[in-house]
Amino acid sequence: MAAPKKIINPELYDAVLFDLDGVVTRTADTHAKAWKKLFDEYLKKSSGSHDFIPFDSKDDYIKYVDGKPRYKGVKDFLTSRSIVIPHGLVNDEPYAETICGLGNRKNQIFSDLLKKEGVRVYESTIDLIKQFRKNGLKTAIVSSSKNCLKVLMAADIEDLFETRVDGIISENLGLSGKPEPDIFLEAAKRLDAPVNRCVVVEDALSGVEAGKKGGFGLIIGVNRKDQAEQLTQKGAHLVVNDLGEIKAGREEQTSWGHIYEGFDPGDEGRRETLCALGNGYFVTRGAAPWARADEVHYPGTYLAGGYNRLKTKVAGRVIENEDLVNIPNWLCLNFRIAGEEWFQIKEVKILFYSQSLNIKKG
Ligand SMILES: [Mg+2]
Repeated sequence: MAAPKKIINPELYDAVLFDLDGVVTRTADTHAKAWKKLFDEYLKKSSGSHDFIPFDSKDDYIKYVDGKPRYKGVKDFLTSRSIVIPHGLVNDEPYAETICGLGNRKNQIFSDLLKKEGVRVYESTIDLIKQFRKNGLKTAIVSSSKNCLKVLMAADIEDLFETRVDGIISENLGLSGKPEPDIFLEAAKRLDAPVNRCVVVEDALSGVEAGKKGGFGLIIGVNRKDQAEQLTQKGAHLVVNDLGEIKAGREEQTSWGHIYEGFDPGDEGRRETLCALGNGYFVTRGAAPWARADEVHYPGTYLAGGYNRLKTKVAGRVIENEDLVNIPNWLCLNFRIAGEEWFQIKEVKILFYSQSLNIKKG
């Protein structure tokens, strides 16, 4: 049986910012191939075939080049191999031994591969973009690539996005590339959407990190390269293997429900306070079941006075004083909604969608 879809409530957001390669189009593989051809040819030539250690299309790609502006990718990978060459100029010939020259050569290889292989899209992503648009959300394409428009046009999907911030636009505006948040912030500005009401959809660690640094409301990590844990560590609130696991809409409500989506450590204190339950004498502060008191969480039971005025017989005399009284044993707390059945633990369903919390009557 297919797993239930994770639901993104469109009323919580104004805009969705999509990365291109690896999220919308399958060009991440084409980029990886182009990087490998570039670096393998260069490393063989510069180190000689004897000492040649090839570019690793998975590890080196993820660590040093994925999602980054091209010249930064060249520099970061060469630095990892302790190779230092001049930066050069953006119009350097593709065979010049400079950062820009190698970057331009990579672009040439990528364009040749694109011509040969064409552009394929993730149909599930296209479906989700259409769902978001139908629900009134604005959409942007945000990419470090200078080939962004070319790729969108080749796939005939440029009309799916209200705005585009790509490698060419960010160079013209002097924006820093991922993992800095500049290009996502520019897209949010163009769509007139506050960052806390924007969703970022990214497959690269550098892109997820950019989303976190920008303080965006929801960051969805698309796990194309078996790196779900790293995506979460970099700041993804929700990680999926494919965007077909998500749909736009409102969660079906049972007779009552209280639902929070996403996880923002800075907002957790307020959320716990709003989930607190009390009657003026004692309060249980709501917290995620795994929470321990730390910088983020502050779970606990609160008591306003633990005494009661009682009459007690002492040495034949009745004394009235403040006695310490018993309070309910919190360890076996049971409760019910007025007029409804008492809750039994087996009747409470707790669903965790990544780090989002969804507690409702089962
Ligand atoms: Mg990507």
